[in-house]
Amino acid sequence: MPGGARGTLFSDLASIAREVASTASRREKALILARFLKDLSPDEATHAAMLLTGRVFHPWEPARLNVSWPTVWRVVSSLVSADEREVREVASAGVDLGEAVRLVLSALPRKRQETLAEFGQGPGGVGGEGAAGRLTLEGAYSALRSLAGISGPGSRARREAVLRALFSAADPDEAWLLANVLVGETRLGLSEGILLDAVAAALGTPRWKVERAAAVAGGPAEVLREGLAGGDVSSLLSPRTFIPVRPMLAQPADDVGEALDQLGGEASLEYKLDGVRVQIHFRGGRVAVYSRRMSDITSSVPEVVRGTLEGLRVDEAILDGEVVAEGRDGRPLPFQLLMRRFRRLDLPEEVVRRIPLRAYLFDVLLVDGRPTLDEPYEARRRILEEVISPPLDPVPSIATSDPDEAGEFMEEAVSAGHEGVVVKRPSSPYVPGARGGNWLKVKRVRTVDLVIVAAERGYGRRHRWYSDYHLAARDPETGELVEVGKTFKGLTDEEFEWMTGKLRSIAVEERGGFIRVRPEVVVEVAFSDVQRSPKYPSGVALRFARIVRIRTDKSPEEADTVDRLRELLPREGEREEEQEEGGGG
Ligand code: ATP
Repeated sequence: MPGGARGTLFSDLASIAREVASTASRREKALILARFLKDLSPDEATHAAMLLTGRVFHPWEPARLNVSWPTVWRVVSSLVSADEREVREVASAGVDLGEAVRLVLSALPRKRQETLAEFGQGPGGVGGEGAAGRLTLEGAYSALRSLAGISGPGSRARREAVLRALFSAADPDEAWLLANVLVGETRLGLSEGILLDAVAAALGTPRWKVERAAAVAGGPAEVLREGLAGGDVSSLLSPRTFIPVRPMLAQPADDVGEALDQLGGEASLEYKLDGVRVQIHFRGGRVAVYSRRMSDITSSVPEVVRGTLEGLRVDEAILDGEVVAEGRDGRPLPFQLLMRRFRRLDLPEEVVRRIPLRAYLFDVLLVDGRPTLDEPYEARRRILEEVISPPLDPVPSIATSDPDEAGEFMEEAVSAGHEGVVVKRPSSPYVPGARGGNWLKVKRVRTVDLVIVAAERGYGRRHRWYSDYHLAARDPETGELVEVGKTFKGLTDEEFEWMTGKLRSIAVEERGGFIRVRPEVVVEVAFSDVQRSPKYPSGVALRFARIVRIRTDKSPEEADTVDRLRELLPREGEREEEQEEGGGG
């Protein structure tokens, strides 16, 4: 049972996780969780909520676990007295790593228990054992965190020692949860939506408030901490510097005319810059820059840091914008070049010089202690223009109700090398994390975001790489990913190389020239059209698909849905091409 002077046991968390995983109803899941979470200490509850959603770190923490599934596998196999063949046989009944680990540890005899002390971890390592040497929730959490701090010579062995200590202290259910968390794959059937429901129920706080606070203050787990510590959740509704706010997102519209109509005839149009979303935080002379997924990318964008120090006229601010790579002529450089700046951590000065970045801003969320989120867009834009000066620039914009003028602005954006425009409702507030109808994006080229679920080696020159990608969209009903096409087009050699390494690191199956991977890599795909296809269970396939970019800034949960593709099917009566499948052709 939770609580007690020694703290909650990790096994309590594991059994709740299993109960949640085996419960079908969302409502039930949330209630089970709420009952468990509300009796924990604020720290325990925060960490429980994070672990249950497969996370050990906040997105803006620079730490990573650095544990691959073969490592987990090696450690777990070393704990049982059985030969490799036996282990593999038992494991094969498991649908994923967590389940395989659970089966192996329940069915096969364990070697002598290694006690935690043997590893000399102490508190902060694998310490924090509760009664009778059992793992506590806090002990397991801090051991997992400690993995990120292990580096330098011999780090692999030291990491494995921590893992061995953890897994030897774990019963099969606990090991199942650990494995799930370690490989970042939560087969717990626990979406963030359910966690938000659970937090709202545990705190007795309205759901909308929890959702908004989570988007502003670093996620549902942080809201839970504040509530359980007796704080006021309302205090989390306003942003604070150095805690990234979930960015407001846009919905697609077909053209500017349609977008104007949707917004009631009058709107502001801004260039849709083809870059990387950035949220700049500034206070007390410190600048931090966060990505769309709230990672801290400050060290990748020194120009933005310098630009902020030079061009910001206030003492504290949170600004939202897009960073682009710009050539000497002021035109945007290709997105692929921009990505080079973000793929490497050790950024040589020469790369910085060759691919100079520039930040264009389009929103402001906080100025000198005053939140501006709820001000209308027009007012925020005025504030933005007052508080920044070159080298920080506002993104070019116009306000209009004239469809022709809007069309011309769109043409101007595209001919200046940008993707299109974002059309914004002048009276709308900034809604963190929302993809609402107040921002409409109009692009020249139609694209969708899909997840790579498998790949094959290419032919000829491309044989060196996994270069033919199986692309999947989300089925919103089941949450599963369903294949909708294949392509080998669009990537540069350098990108094929990167992708091959990436896919290998997340492989779940490799045979011959084929690799199946954990669904992690999102790609933006352009295509000629969508057609009905008997070949794919989804019933739809993309024709002439081509990857336009690798979206490391997007998570698979953000991939487009099959429904969106179905909307793009030719309507009854419209001519449908005979060709059965064009993707990859
Ligand atoms: P996309 O895949 O179209 O780039 P997205 O899915 O990343 O979009 P959306 O909310 O759908 O995100 O589209 C808005 C994105 O466009 C923002 O996340 C931002 O990175 C980029 N962008 C460029 N210019 C603007 C602008 N003027 N206003 C808002 N967003 C802009």
